[in-house]
Amino acid sequence: MDMNGKKMLVVSAHPGDVLWRCSGAIAKHVKLGGLVDVVVLTMGTGGEANELFKSGLNTEQAKELRRKDFARAMEILGVSRYEMWDLQDYRFEITQEKIYRMVRFMRQSKPNLILTHHNTDLFNPDHGTIFPYVNMSLEAATGQGIFVDDLKPIERAPIFCFEPHASEVNGFKPNLFVDITDVIETKKAAMATFELKKKLAASYVDRAKYRAVNAGSFGRKGCEYAEAYEAIYPIAQDGYFVY
Ligand SMILES: [Zn+2]
Repeated sequence: MDMNGKKMLVVSAHPGDVLWRCSGAIAKHVKLGGLVDVVVLTMGTGGEANELFKSGLNTEQAKELRRKDFARAMEILGVSRYEMWDLQDYRFEITQEKIYRMVRFMRQSKPNLILTHHNTDLFNPDHGTIFPYVNMSLEAATGQGIFVDDLKPIERAPIFCFEPHASEVNGFKPNLFVDITDVIETKKAAMATFELKKKLAASYVDRAKYRAVNAGSFGRKGCEYAEAYEAIYPIAQDGYFVY
C-alpha cells in the first residue's frame, strides 16, 4: 500500500505519549510514503517527567532534555514537522485561543487522518481533555465562517484514538489494529530516546505483542506486533489507516 503523501496529524498531551502510544503507526505511515505532523501540547512536567525530577533536574532542565530526546525520536521516526507548544501541564484548559491556534495548525497541515487521545483517562485527566479539544478544533477548522489569517477551511478527517495506559478502566474499546511488525525496531529505538523510561518502554513492546494476538484473532495474518486504536466516529470516509 502506498500512502503517497497522505498526511497523518498526531496531537498529544505530552511528548512520551507519541512514543508509547502511536510511534509504530507513525513509522509505518512514513515507511509507506505518508507524511506526519506532530503537535505536543505540553512538556509533561506535571507528571510524565517525574523520573527526571527524581534524578535531580529542575523544570527547565527537564524540558530541555525532553526537547533534545524528542528531537532524536522524531528523526528516528522520520517526522519532519513537529511542534512542542509547552502549554500548562496539569490541567489543560480548552480556551478559544488554544482552539484557534490548533485551527491554524490544522489548516496548514491539511490532515487526511488524525491520531489523538481517547476521551477518558483516569490516570491523566489531561489526556481525556485533549480529545474534545482536538474534536472542537477540527470542527472549527472545517467551518466556512471561522476566519484565521487567510487559511482555507479543511475537510473533516477521521479521528483515531490511541490506547490509554490502562484500557479496561477507561472504557477503551479497540476497533482498529495497526500491524507494526515491520517497524517494531523503529518503535523500540524511538522509545529508547527516553533513557529513564526503559521499563515503561518494555511494557509497550509487551502490549504490542498482546494486541498482535487480538489482531490475529480478527484475521490479521503474520502479525507479531500491533497498536490498538478506537475510532470514536463511525468511519464513513477513506481513512488511509488500514495498512
Ligand atoms: Zn501523557
